[in-house]
Amino acid sequence: MTILRLAIPSPLRRLFDYLPPAGCNPTQLQPGVRVLAPFGKREVIGILMEITDQSEFELSRLKPARSILDTEPPLPRHLLKLARWAASYYQHPEGDALQQALPVLLRKGQPCEYQHETLWRAAEGASIAQLKANAHRQIALLQLLLEHPQGISTDALRAEGGQVSNLSTLQEKGLAESFQRCHKTPTSQILHEAPLPLNPEQASCLQQINAEQAFSINLLEGITGSGKTEVYLQAIEQRLNAGLQALVLVPEIGLTPQTVNRFKQRFSVPIVALHSNMTDRQRLDAWLQAREGIARIVIGTRSAIFTPLQKPGIIIIDEEHDPSFKQQDGFRYSARDLAAMRARDEQIPLVLGSATPSLETLHNAIEGRYHWLRITQRAGNSAPPRFELLDIRQIPLQEGLSPALVSAIRQHLESGTQVLVFLNRRGFSPTLSCHDCGWIADCTRCDAHMTLHQNPPHLHCHHCDKQSGIPLHCQECGSDQLQPVGVGTERSEQALQQLFPDFPVIRVDRDSTQRKHAMQEIMHQVNSGDPCILVGTQMLAKGHHFPKVTLVAILNADSGLFSADFRGMERTAQLILQVAGRAGRADHPGTVMMQTYHADHPILQTLVEQGYSAFALVELNNRKAAQLPPYSHYALLRAETSQKGRAEAFLGAIRQQLEDDLLLPPGAHWIGPFPSPMEKRAGMHRAQLMIYGQNRKALHQLLASLCWYLEQNPESRKVRWSIDVDPADTF
Ligand code: ADP
Ligand code: ZN
Ligand code: ZN
Repeated sequence: MTILRLAIPSPLRRLFDYLPPAGCNPTQLQPGVRVLAPFGKREVIGILMEITDQSEFELSRLKPARSILDTEPPLPRHLLKLARWAASYYQHPEGDALQQALPVLLRKGQPCEYQHETLWRAAEGASIAQLKANAHRQIALLQLLLEHPQGISTDALRAEGGQVSNLSTLQEKGLAESFQRCHKTPTSQILHEAPLPLNPEQASCLQQINAEQAFSINLLEGITGSGKTEVYLQAIEQRLNAGLQALVLVPEIGLTPQTVNRFKQRFSVPIVALHSNMTDRQRLDAWLQAREGIARIVIGTRSAIFTPLQKPGIIIIDEEHDPSFKQQDGFRYSARDLAAMRARDEQIPLVLGSATPSLETLHNAIEGRYHWLRITQRAGNSAPPRFELLDIRQIPLQEGLSPALVSAIRQHLESGTQVLVFLNRRGFSPTLSCHDCGWIADCTRCDAHMTLHQNPPHLHCHHCDKQSGIPLHCQECGSDQLQPVGVGTERSEQALQQLFPDFPVIRVDRDSTQRKHAMQEIMHQVNSGDPCILVGTQMLAKGHHFPKVTLVAILNADSGLFSADFRGMERTAQLILQVAGRAGRADHPGTVMMQTYHADHPILQTLVEQGYSAFALVELNNRKAAQLPPYSHYALLRAETSQKGRAEAFLGAIRQQLEDDLLLPPGAHWIGPFPSPMEKRAGMHRAQLMIYGQNRKALHQLLASLCWYLEQNPESRKVRWSIDVDPADTF
């Protein structure tokens, strides 16, 4: 008796048994192939995990699967194993995790093949003589087909002047035929431009990466502009020469085509990018080209970590500290951490690059688990930016700008350079408040204020997306004295435009870049080099190079200093340095001015006077003293319901049940449940239980029992709950 054990996308944490479909020869089945199977009232696509002859269910109760979709498994065995491992580590149902490792079209049951392009060619033995002498168009068309014995597409025929409407006539006469071919790009030469001669620091980093042909993890730490990308490019070149492929993960590429362009400029090998602006079809084709070894370099965001490579050679993660490498919902995996597992499986080097490494990665480097490679100088002689803290206590601000900052902006613009103003709030103003009674326009669905937008005018909740018109009167006292409080990017843009009417002010945030190509147009204007002011959110901090910017102004450096999240300080420092890194590339030395109410804050001072590494060491000491990650490990059990207090009660009951029934593994403990930092969001009331482990083993023992209890508890079907292992934030 043959039983197929399938991983099926469902919230249930188990595998499901089926009988083979009619006419299937089970000896030819390989684990990992997709299987179409009935599941409740639906048909779903499962992955074959095991072929066995036993089931805990009676055979008569097992249903036959409908059909087998693949002859070969789409994912190679080791990536299937990686996805399974991730499902267990991140406590996510296996069937769903495996699906997420596949391109969308494969999840939907499409064949694991390229989209075939229809091509035309002349039928065997066809000749012009078989056509009437006056059928000029048919003759011309057949002539074209005869000139392209490999086949030609209708578009190409049209481009060469062929009357494609006559193709069917030729086909009926048995003179032409169509066939399918997938698109492949041939590869011969590797380099398209010569690599730059490396400076000694870069050369030593490259040498260390290349020294390990097998598995190694390397932290490449170097300030923005220090030439890390050049090191990646040359490390990749070495792998390409050895006939291998490279996988490069970046935080986002839809918005920063420069990243991909830089690789295309350097290499003439086929490069594919995988990102959210592509159609599902394009993504599957790119994925297949990676799997078949046709694409030699694969550049993608988080989910690209599961892209199969026929000949893996190196994995590079740029901006490794970026929180986007951790998925924040559903299957909450960290692509960076999985990359380390994958590199070990494939016995290849992993390079983690950053100007501001995460404290986890830095800790691993300090402990000697990762090679720690550093570049301390900027490449190409450009000087690092100079930092200045602007103490704004008791200073009158004009729309968030201090007089000292305004005069610095004027000075830079008048000397013919560009200025970047950073502010982490989009919209006109973060609150709309009543001058007479203090009422504030709040979101009815969240514990949050509505943000005032003026372009177009409306109120918008940035947490649940609720939008409404701007009220004319206070809802408490009826007064019409409603005023915007606080400054967002729209307001800052308006104020700067009034202060500097002779210079263009360009706003860059999610609202201003929504239109297709908006970002390209902005970059085009900035690259013209004329003096201008760029004002925007952290979108400005990512990936872009602004060679003519000489002044970076940070309007509110304090925003994350006193966050409830223990990572608040780390994120603030990373963001500040990331924004600062935009200034003074090329030959223009840059200045970074940071407005703060806490100019004597020791951590801020360490950061600006001694740099990120010094800051990170102080912060690591604080984490150690408080036994916070990376000195411990934790997970969050989050719950939400529409009823106030119920999520918290549910978590409390789960905790109690576990405590009554089993001993906590040594080194594990929990804190809470507490209401979440934003208790109400999108109409749901939220609470969380923090689960700490001194080591991963203790934590995972506890989590495994926890999951079991959660699944048994009848209440858990009435509450939306999730487990987040190594969460990126506590909200
Ligand atoms: P990072 O990735 O660390 O921000 P990049 O690799 O983008 O730095 O380098 C910053 C600038 O310096 C780029 O314009 C790059 O072309 C240039 N550069 C990098 N390495 C060298 C080098 N060895 N010699 C000259 N210029 C270099
Ligand atoms: Zn009022
Ligand atoms: Zn809301």
